[in-house]
Amino acid sequence: MRRKIVVGNWKMNNTVAESLDLATEIAEKVGTGSLSCEVGIAPSFLALHEVGKVIEWSDIRLTAQNCHYENDGAFTGEVSARMLAASGCSYVILGHSERRQYFGDTNIVVNRKVKKALEEGLKVILCVGETLEEREGGVTESIITGQVVEGLSGVSDISNLVIAYEPVWAIGTGKTASSAQAQEVHASIRATVAGLYGQQASEHLRIQYGGSVKPSNAVELFGMPDIDGGLIGGASLNTADFMAIVLAAC
Ligand code: PEP
Repeated sequence: MRRKIVVGNWKMNNTVAESLDLATEIAEKVGTGSLSCEVGIAPSFLALHEVGKVIEWSDIRLTAQNCHYENDGAFTGEVSARMLAASGCSYVILGHSERRQYFGDTNIVVNRKVKKALEEGLKVILCVGETLEEREGGVTESIITGQVVEGLSGVSDISNLVIAYEPVWAIGTGKTASSAQAQEVHASIRATVAGLYGQQASEHLRIQYGGSVKPSNAVELFGMPDIDGGLIGGASLNTADFMAIVLAAC
């Protein structure tokens, strides 16, 4: 039985003070030992360390939104996996479509980040997803398979990996993939992973869905056999909405 995982991706929202308020509220709801699923929040880099302190007593996993593929050096503006691990992060989100679209994160770059983050002891949420043009062009499966295969090139152990399927056309648009559409892609990702790492590893792998998940659609999505929780953007900025989604998974 896979333990579901719900992570709030706060993106470039909230000052440090706002982040602390939101994190404190969520920590009070999540508490300790009461939920059957895993819960994470991903504030901006600036707020990460302070948020870590206010959620430390709770079961919430501190999550980063990105990292660099080197540990140190002349990479102005970047933050390394080693720094994140030392600041108390458990997870890092890599290959988010916004990183792929606006910041040049190709499959090769994402793969370097994945390897470095795992090496530094972080758990990785590897995001994959097709654009609307790709879906309409009938190439969803080959795009996703490419992102999984190339993103995991050279990775021998996937026990610290989560994959997030996030159709680009459903992120922040209010359009959600139907539960059947999402399930189809999740099953195909699991089959790809089985081909790469064997049946047992693929059955243990958690695959989150992301893309306009809301309290109103979370129960149906999380009820699908290969959907093991969600990566939540907009709805994670509101405690009541985020907790309703968390409870749909727990
Ligand atoms: C995301 O950014 O990972 C995401 C799924 O965003 P939203 O829930 O706002 O679509």
